[in-house]
Amino acid sequence: MNEWLRICDEDHTECVDEPTVGVYPELPTRVIDIGELSTDHLRLCAFSTEDKESSWQPRYIALSHCWGNLAEEQKRQYCTSAENIDERSKQGFDMAILPRTFQDAVTVTRELGRRYLWIDSLCIIQYGDNMEDWKREATRMEGVFRNAYCTIAATSAADSAKGFLKRPRVQQPELQCIKVESSAHGPVYVSSVADDFQRDVEQGILNQRAWVLQERALSRRIIHFTATQAYWECGSGVRCETLTYMRNSRALFLGDAKFPESLNLRRSLDKIKLFQDLFMTYSRLGITKHTDRPHAISGLEQRLASTFGTEARYGVFEKYLHRSLLWQRSGAKRMDRILYADDDAVVPSWSWMAYDGEFEYLEINSDYVEWVEEVKLADKMLKAQVRRFRGCKLVRKDNGTCSIEAKEGKGERGWLKYDTKPLMDLRELRCVIIGREKEWNGSGNRIVGTDHYVLLVTPRDSETGKVFARVGVGFVPSGYIRFQKKQSEECIV
Ligand SMILES: [Zn+2]
Repeated sequence: MNEWLRICDEDHTECVDEPTVGVYPELPTRVIDIGELSTDHLRLCAFSTEDKESSWQPRYIALSHCWGNLAEEQKRQYCTSAENIDERSKQGFDMAILPRTFQDAVTVTRELGRRYLWIDSLCIIQYGDNMEDWKREATRMEGVFRNAYCTIAATSAADSAKGFLKRPRVQQPELQCIKVESSAHGPVYVSSVADDFQRDVEQGILNQRAWVLQERALSRRIIHFTATQAYWECGSGVRCETLTYMRNSRALFLGDAKFPESLNLRRSLDKIKLFQDLFMTYSRLGITKHTDRPHAISGLEQRLASTFGTEARYGVFEKYLHRSLLWQRSGAKRMDRILYADDDAVVPSWSWMAYDGEFEYLEINSDYVEWVEEVKLADKMLKAQVRRFRGCKLVRKDNGTCSIEAKEGKGERGWLKYDTKPLMDLRELRCVIIGREKEWNGSGNRIVGTDHYVLLVTPRDSETGKVFARVGVGFVPSGYIRFQKKQSEECIV
């Protein structure tokens, strides 16, 4: 593993993160000091502003892990809290009080010749401070993983008590290699395990967790400790403990040290496809606390926004506003609004992050759509013109969809898809036009047509009549939208 790191440090120009002069790396507030000697005594230490601004390179290792089915009381005893942080910082603590996965991480950090280790639940206060520290630190994940010397992923540990290093007395398959002399082809090496990055890493328990997607994408390089062997993943490819080297396009994509800067994102279409694929994948991954949905991806969202040269809000990029807003629930599964105890934390209804469940973006060819300029993002609000429907006959279908049928019985003319439950009363339903589909005219040019991509909204505040909430998305011909009255700007929250 040290050799993997050495080669990456010395030979991989694509993996070097050159510091910009005058710009200091954003470091985690605290790390665990495992000491210079091999004692089992650890201490939490804070990075001071001086550390951050000096040329001192804090070469810490970051751990990517999942708690699994560990009971809440068990987690609590391991975590750093408002009550134990002073003691853990001043007197330190014994490695034996930690779950096995964390102990293994200490061992690996030491073997890699590093003194500092970052583990989320030890370096961020988890209990007793009203989540204040957590809220602050959750916004720094981009820097935590970007600036880590290397990330170690406890891929094979189903829960944190299991650990990921093999133990002599436990019956586990051991990696063995033998050399077979063969006169015809020279020596042949035979290994007891087959290299299978797809099975061992991609389909591993850890990579089914929502938090881990960004940890992997934001890391410069990762060592995955899997059930069969360890894999190294960096911008130059994947290396196996069996000494095999493999190229894997998905691994290259997520394992890329400078993800996504070095991807060849020349066209806007590539950028749109990139964020859409990542966010849709994210929505399929497991998350224990549903209220974490906006946070477990915020580091990746920040990095994408800076690569695209734009601002991001709740999974919506200002530069690609229209394409970001046109999402729908995936298949028949209904989404549910995530409830927050704290009003400030509530995610606006136009963001997919406000809901639980899988979603997908509408498949639209931007070349054939004219986007409506008036739709604007203003902090947590979306400013737009809200219009009423007219003369629609809605026919309810399964999977939350309604079709708009022509009154004369000429069949389906458009469709509406609801995020949560269908709203059949047209008096309660309004729409916001996001784009108009272009169509061919007689002389072979595309002109603005009559079909509209819309967001479905419903009044939220009956007093002012100016505040609406998103309830779905639709594709509606202009004949079913009331245009005549010029309406003022209204907001969707
Ligand atoms: Zn490398």
